[in-house]
Amino acid sequence: MKYLLLFLLGVLGLCAADKPCLFCEIAAGRLEASMIWRDESVMAFLSIGPRNVGHVLVVPVQHAEGILDLPPATAHHMMDVAQKIVRAIKQTDLPAEGFNLKLNSGAAAGQTVFHVHLHVIPRFAAEPPEPPPGTRVAKAQLDPIADKIRAKLDLAATL
Ligand code: AMP
Ligand code: ZN
Repeated sequence: MKYLLLFLLGVLGLCAADKPCLFCEIAAGRLEASMIWRDESVMAFLSIGPRNVGHVLVVPVQHAEGILDLPPATAHHMMDVAQKIVRAIKQTDLPAEGFNLKLNSGAAAGQTVFHVHLHVIPRFAAEPPEPPPGTRVAKAQLDPIADKIRAKLDLAATL
């Protein structure tokens, strides 16, 4: 019995170790996302579990687990991109009176995807209640929102 348990734990461990990083899969184009920004070091796409409509994740293209694993230049660039996205969202008709910029680094801080990312979350007074944990939104629903923000990003970059 003890050996069976050890064997099962070993198999589970191997499976976890083999699991590819979700955001590296997106960076490589093997997993789809509603992308709104992509350059040589940073990408940004809509969260599939948004707190509000227009919830964007700003993500380094190269894998880095937490805040201290990020090259400082990439960390700075992520903030530049986040600022452009805030500016772009404010030019759309999405409800966004304020924004939360949030980075969870480490499981104890609430990080669930261990490829570091900066959340850009539109906030407004008359928000619907927070969706229950695990709620996912289909890409077909996210894509029109991504199009809307992308359309304002080119303009925002010149401001
Ligand atoms: P955190 O808890 O700070 O690690 O945030 C993880 C974020 O990644 C949440 O907003 C999730 O909804 C989002 N997320 C997880 N998987 C995907 C995915 N495949 N595409 C887009 N967003 C994702
Ligand atoms: Zn990764």
